[in-house]
Amino acid sequence: MAERSSLSIAIVGGGIAGLTLTVALLTKCPHIKVTLYESAAAFGEIGAGVGFSPVMVRTMGMIDPRIEAAFIKCNKGNVNPDPPVWFTARVGDKRKKGVELGEESFTIPAREGPNGGVHRAQFLDELVKLVPEGVAQFKKRLRDITEATDGSGDAILHFADGSTAQHSAVLGCDGIKSRVRQIVLGDVPEAQAVFSGKYAYRGIFPMTKAIEILGEEIPKMPQMWLGYHAHILTFPIANGTLFNGTSTRKLLLSWLTRLQLSHLGRDPLGRIRTGWCRRLATR
Ligand SMILES: Cc1cc2nc3c(=O)[nH]c(=O)nc-3n(C[C@H](O)[C@H](O)[C@H](O)COP(=O)(O)OP(=O)(O)OC[C@H]3O[C@@H](n4cnc5c(N)ncnc54)[C@H](O)[C@@H]3O)c2cc1C
Repeated sequence: MAERSSLSIAIVGGGIAGLTLTVALLTKCPHIKVTLYESAAAFGEIGAGVGFSPVMVRTMGMIDPRIEAAFIKCNKGNVNPDPPVWFTARVGDKRKKGVELGEESFTIPAREGPNGGVHRAQFLDELVKLVPEGVAQFKKRLRDITEATDGSGDAILHFADGSTAQHSAVLGCDGIKSRVRQIVLGDVPEAQAVFSGKYAYRGIFPMTKAIEILGEEIPKMPQMWLGYHAHILTFPIANGTLFNGTSTRKLLLSWLTRLQLSHLGRDPLGRIRTGWCRRLATR
């Protein structure tokens, strides 16, 4: 094994967390050698939205101004009201008595500064541009980590393709079902992702269609439609050209298995019952 003069860090997982950490380490700690291992064949995100508060956007700038610039590039066209509002909560369920469907219930104020939704894939593409060539290795699914036997105290990463890599330390950014977390914590319940009792559907459609259904103003700002056992979040993404919706429902059957979940089917804004705001649920 060749002698390595400097600290060498392995980052496992190239999602938003892994890429941000990679950029941060490369910028702030240029003396550290960083290698990012991603199980997929290329960086990629699901085509839905993700929303960031002003504090998160400021934090991006503190990590690296180029990350904040990447966010702003993907967020242009989103409407920020004055004073700033994070979400407007509205009645989304017509079974609620004494209120009108769509009526504003309350607003959650936001701090000043850039904030709001971006298209995940678009934002990830911008982050990828900040990672120099050669830093990321693909098709590297981590299976195990063992301690090096050369007395260095290093970690040996074992990948599904049979290859290994030696690094001073390993940082897990491999998502909700993290293999790194399982290896570090061992066979304990804390190492496993736990079903929260809720499931979510996500859908995207053109902003022009959303305006047709909901009017000019509402689709362009973040909304939280509240109802019995469920809520729908909507906000603009892709520089205001797309309308992103996530509907979250509570499952009363908490024992539902993953297999059964996979049979719930596809439904852009959730299987919201008939009492729900039909303009959102059925169009
Ligand atoms: C419906 C929904 C809506 C959400 N909305 C928001 C929101 O508006 N705002 C917000 O801040 N957050 C939101 N979140 C949460 C947010 O999506 C996640 O917290 C975030 O995407 C996690 O990023 P990550 O980089 O940690 O993990 P991931 O994006 O899951 O990335 C993990 C990466 O690790 C790789 N990987 C996994 N296992 C291995 C392995 N063994 N070896 C090598 N690589 C591996 C994967 O391929 C993947 O690329 C939402 C989540 C959901 C489900």
